[in-house]
Amino acid sequence: MKTLKDIKKNEIYTITIESLSQDGEGVGRINGFVVFCDGLLPGEKAEIRIVKVTSSYAVGRVTKLIDKSQNRINPECAYSTKCGGCTFSHIEYKAQLETKQQYVVDCLSRIGGIKDYTLIPIKGMDNPYKYRNKAQYPFGVNIEGKVVSGFFSKRSHDLVPIDLCLTEDERAQKVRKFVSEYITDNNITVYDESNNKGLIRNVVVRTSHLNDNAMVILVLSSDTFPDVLKFINALKITCPFVVSVYFNINDKVTNVILGEEFKHIYGDERLLDTIDGVNFLISPDSFFQVNPLQTVQLYQTVALFSDVQEDDTVFDIYCGIGTIGIYLASKFKIKKLVGVEYVKHAVEDAIINAQLNHIENASFYEGDATEVVTELKHKETIKHFDIVVVDPPRKGCDEKLLELLINIQSPKIVYVSCNPASLARDLKYLTANGYSVNKVCPVDLFPWTSHVETVVFMSNKDK
Ligand code: SAH
Repeated sequence: MKTLKDIKKNEIYTITIESLSQDGEGVGRINGFVVFCDGLLPGEKAEIRIVKVTSSYAVGRVTKLIDKSQNRINPECAYSTKCGGCTFSHIEYKAQLETKQQYVVDCLSRIGGIKDYTLIPIKGMDNPYKYRNKAQYPFGVNIEGKVVSGFFSKRSHDLVPIDLCLTEDERAQKVRKFVSEYITDNNITVYDESNNKGLIRNVVVRTSHLNDNAMVILVLSSDTFPDVLKFINALKITCPFVVSVYFNINDKVTNVILGEEFKHIYGDERLLDTIDGVNFLISPDSFFQVNPLQTVQLYQTVALFSDVQEDDTVFDIYCGIGTIGIYLASKFKIKKLVGVEYVKHAVEDAIINAQLNHIENASFYEGDATEVVTELKHKETIKHFDIVVVDPPRKGCDEKLLELLINIQSPKIVYVSCNPASLARDLKYLTANGYSVNKVCPVDLFPWTSHVETVVFMSNKDK
């Protein structure tokens, strides 16, 4: 077996790719030693040059593709080799879906030891373009002195200026082009990470799928934007669909896009969107699923798995703006809805959204999920729920929360996850404590990327 000592930087090897990493890199072995190669697909054979060797893996760059996968396509995107956004742009869409589904199945089996369940085939898009309802763009200045916008290249903060992104909404594209031109024409400075100078850091654009509406959040390094009224008037002329504008002040040296301070400067405070007939108002810093068409698929799957009975009680943990619980309460007659979420404005949105959709008996609590659930349990505010929905961020639930879920003794848990690895780890814990995984359905919310959403239905017959 080849070891670390045998594999040397700059040497050329031939490799056959076995699988894809979660970031979409081809993974193969050179005499047992793991090598990651960006841009290669399973089954492909290539000549590679080793560019990095660590104690547990190496990284290679393709010098010659020898055997090509039938799933390989010529990327439709002109920036695919530079932009860090779409790691699956060289994979045919159907094969992307198969890859994602297989990744979910593999994680459940390898990490969770979970093999015995009904797999509902991944739900993909008919037309996987222009799907994003939220985009955030950094700016830069080109050699002609013009302000340009785009995305960062992979694992760096080098700007790749783009004219058109295949996943972006046309309204978002219009806004970023307008902002770039406005900054150029008005000699407003662009923030430079290398010296923390310059005013404009990012523009975030949220678009409504239902209405022809958009929200614009201009991220500034300080609250010194010149002639705000002139900017708003010009924006309204070029982008009349913009119904809400915020400034966000981020004066920190950080990769995090949004700072803590929001200043509402024009129009509505919240953007209205509709998922399968249910209305949601969204604050600038609240989470909302990024692909509205596929969110319908996601929530319909949650509803199907939940199998809500009349007068059921529903606990929606990590509820964001209340979406899943309110969706269920709008479609079925439920007795009580309780939601937990730690972003303050999202909780305020959830309360408004329950009213907007005429949901009574809904309460939403602000705070860390584990802390709030502990407290509610302690006060006996929550004893039992017929259905518990959890939709945590990428890191999954912490063990204390899983322990509380077991304590709540719900007969049904619906777990919505954006990370199959943490999902599998959490399911392992729940299955070791009385629950069984009955149904699993992946949903593709992020075509051309390696990300996948999964809905899991678990039951506990003893509860
Ligand atoms: N179910 C919602 C939101 C899912 S995203 C929807 O489908 O729209 C996950 C949510 O969990 C986000 O709103 C995020 O703000 C929230 N969150 C992240 N960590 C949390 C924590 N420790 N406690 C409570 N909420 C948290």
